[in-house]
Amino acid sequence: MQIITSLRDIKEQTEKLRSSGKTIGFVPTMGALHQGHLTLLETAAEQNDLSICSIFVNPTQFNNAEDFKLYPRILENDIEALKKSRCAMLFAPSVADMYPETLQLKFDFGELETVMEGKFRPGHFTGVAAIVSKLFHAVRPHKAYFGQKDLQQYAVINRLVTDLSFDLELVCHPIIREADGLAMSSRNRRLSEEQREQATQLYKALQLASGLSKAHTVAEVKEAVSKHLQPFAAIKLEYFEVADVNSLQPLAEFDASDRVALCIAAYVGEVRLIDNVII
Ligand code: AMP
Repeated sequence: MQIITSLRDIKEQTEKLRSSGKTIGFVPTMGALHQGHLTLLETAAEQNDLSICSIFVNPTQFNNAEDFKLYPRILENDIEALKKSRCAMLFAPSVADMYPETLQLKFDFGELETVMEGKFRPGHFTGVAAIVSKLFHAVRPHKAYFGQKDLQQYAVINRLVTDLSFDLELVCHPIIREADGLAMSSRNRRLSEEQREQATQLYKALQLASGLSKAHTVAEVKEAVSKHLQPFAAIKLEYFEVADVNSLQPLAEFDASDRVALCIAAYVGEVRLIDNVII
């Protein structure tokens, strides 16, 4: 596996690959890789001539300085994991290379940003859109892979690609879970044993909500989720939302014709986790 750390070098390499007719599948990540990331890479390798992974803990998408500081950074381990995967190239740039100057540009994704992650993490999607744009320019992939775990991020990037005419295809990959249902996340590493155990309740709450949605109102389902999580001392629910899967706008009622996303965000101890199911 080739490891590239400068913007100039990645541009040169991907330019060569493109001009020799190779198709590039790209998986942008913030590292602390787990099976979720590796599955995206596996899919990228299968669907393209080669796969490229980026690892960059992007400062502009953190609205909480402590979260940025504590975000797990284990590049050496990640390199070992990538060497065993079908990743052809790793791009791991520095902050100075990606942001030679303070980012001034602000994105406005309209309604999409007024709910859930957009509402609770102001500025987050401007940081995401900026780094993803920079990475797309550098890697120039034919296909880029994102996880359904960050459903709203996928919707934002889809908007970005459409509105700015990025010449690539986006792929939304299903959520990879631990055996007990917890959605894999780099942040899970920060959970204590007890918190890790309680964290499984987030997916349990989503499953409960999914079951209840067939015969109950949105208000009743919300009430049931909040009640379900109450006994778990480590968990502080930030939101549980019933949303249209494309617009991500909240739905007041279930309608058989809607594709609905049940989305949850909660603190487990100090660690903020998100998850969703589509019904
Ligand atoms: P991150 O490193 O958390 O920014 O994630 C990098 C990419 O991997 C994003 O597109 C995520 O949505 C995706 N991803 C993270 N966790 C999972 C998971 N458990 N299943 C599927 N995709 C994931």
